[in-house]
Amino acid sequence: MLDLGDTIAAIATAVAPEQGSIAIVRLSGGDSVKIAHTIFHAPGKQIWESHRILYGYIQNATGQTIDEALLLLMLAPRSYTREDVVEFHCHGGMMTVQKVLNLCIQNGARLARPGEFTLRAVLNGRLDLTQAEAIADLIGAKSSASADNALAGLQGKLSQYIQKLRHQCLDLLAELEARIDFDEDLVPLNYDHIQKQIFLLLEQVHQLLATAERGELLRRGIKVAIVGRPNVGKSSLLNAWSQTERAIVTDLPGTTRDVVDAYLVVQGIPVEILDTAGIRSTDDPVEQIGIDRSRQAIQKADIILWVVDALTGWTKEDERLYQELEASKVIAIVNKIDLTAELPQISQIKTPIIYTSALNHTGIDQLESVLIEQVSQGKVQQTNVTYTINQRQQTALLQVQQALQNMQTTITQKLPIDFWTIDLRTAIQALGSITGEEITESVLDRIFSKFCIGK
Ligand code: GDP
Ligand code: ZN
Repeated sequence: MLDLGDTIAAIATAVAPEQGSIAIVRLSGGDSVKIAHTIFHAPGKQIWESHRILYGYIQNATGQTIDEALLLLMLAPRSYTREDVVEFHCHGGMMTVQKVLNLCIQNGARLARPGEFTLRAVLNGRLDLTQAEAIADLIGAKSSASADNALAGLQGKLSQYIQKLRHQCLDLLAELEARIDFDEDLVPLNYDHIQKQIFLLLEQVHQLLATAERGELLRRGIKVAIVGRPNVGKSSLLNAWSQTERAIVTDLPGTTRDVVDAYLVVQGIPVEILDTAGIRSTDDPVEQIGIDRSRQAIQKADIILWVVDALTGWTKEDERLYQELEASKVIAIVNKIDLTAELPQISQIKTPIIYTSALNHTGIDQLESVLIEQVSQGKVQQTNVTYTINQRQQTALLQVQQALQNMQTTITQKLPIDFWTIDLRTAIQALGSITGEEITESVLDRIFSKFCIGK
């Protein structure tokens, strides 16, 4: 995977028929400029220098013009990959851009693998691993909060924090190793002081670990299914809810996914909502299809909004269907409260109950706060840290935590210093794996395979 010698090429922008007025083909590597000279013809006296835009034509080997385009040169090391980078800004759509890419390949470039530009940026020291991961998050961000979060990662805030921790561990290791080598010449070790240092390190690790849950929510978002008997007001409720949201996230063309009825952003978290046809016992085969779809939605959902009508309240049928569900995933909604002064009390269930009127748009704020509370279940802690960690980083930090805790025990048991340093080294290595200071090729493979091509 790590063949840095060749020049890579890819389409850097999204490709879709009749979409996008501009598309960018990007080259990176030692032959980029040579390839650009071969296929790009800049009329007049335009100067080929770094960070300058040239205007001209892209032509194939027979001199046929493929596109009228702009060319941007970014010579090493002032580029994303720190190699010579060339961008062709061509016309959008499907065809031209493919032809330009093919021309680059015919002239010696190799098709880039997913994330390979970013991988090169990492290997050439332009970005560290957490920043590279933040780039994938930024591209995939579905809410402005998740984009902000990714940007904080990209700006290196997480790396700085991890590096600070790692250096504290390295300092401690140096202090301990000095004892092993020159014990007689030094003042005796202050055990309390060392225990205190480990305690402080663990505190910082805890702080970071506490961000994992929110990070996961921001990255992945949540799926909500609106379920209930027909006519209780499920669709009306979704409409009322969508209208009160300021930021509605639209789906990108060409991405295949479940049929989703609305995308909302609730407290920064992207929320996909499936409105279902309604569930009840039936012998009608057509109605059964809708019901099957509802059941699938229930399966996939993180949270089920179980809607009942304020006039009829919680029926035997609601009770029976509710029994099939995981209560921790359910929020009960009593809708149409505008129709009655007497709200039905539902004593049978342990689930939170929200009272709404889709007609008057009431109860929606409360629905949102209970929803977020329910998905985070107290696991999303408020911290003063602005960035969040992902699953890979979490796994590494759990190793750090374990190693430091082992070290605490080792010291308490008064084992020799050699034993302390074993745990400390494990912690240092795990911290290094987060930023990429200590990383194996297989880990790199795993991280970059999640990228899209051209990034
Ligand atoms: P669904 O089958 O559960 O999706 O129900 P609909 O959203 O289609 O609503 C069924 C009927 O109830 C429609 O006539 C709605 O106008 C009415 N409805 C929905 N919500 C409310 C509400 O909060 N108050 C009142 N008064 N009527 C409502
Ligand atoms: Zn409906």
